[in-house]
Amino acid sequence: MSKIDDLWAQANANPGTPIDIGELVVCDWCDEDWTTRTEPGGFILQSKAVCPVCAPSVDALVTKYGEQHFRRARCPEDQAFADFVRTYRGDNNKISVGPLRGFAGWDTDDSDREEP
Ligand SMILES: [Zn+2]
Repeated sequence: MSKIDDLWAQANANPGTPIDIGELVVCDWCDEDWTTRTEPGGFILQSKAVCPVCAPSVDALVTKYGEQHFRRARCPEDQAFADFVRTYRGDNNKISVGPLRGFAGWDTDDSDREEP
């Protein structure tokens, strides 16, 4: 079981209780663990962290569907993706299930999401 799976298991076992994921950085697109990797790249799409590997294909999808406004931030070229994500989320590095969804402290406001 990977670290993030273990943390999600904790979250599922304790609905509504935020679980601190610490320094962990996992791509929300491919589930790759980037915590200790130093490559730059990637971006934040709505509340998801998109890693440098996924970035080109996700970028293409975002552009294809005209959803550029969902891009929140892009990793600077001189910063590691993992550091970029940790900086972006700040102290809001908690996950939980139940009353709170997804990464509790991230932008989980769906009011700007377009209905299909
Ligand atoms: Zn990825």
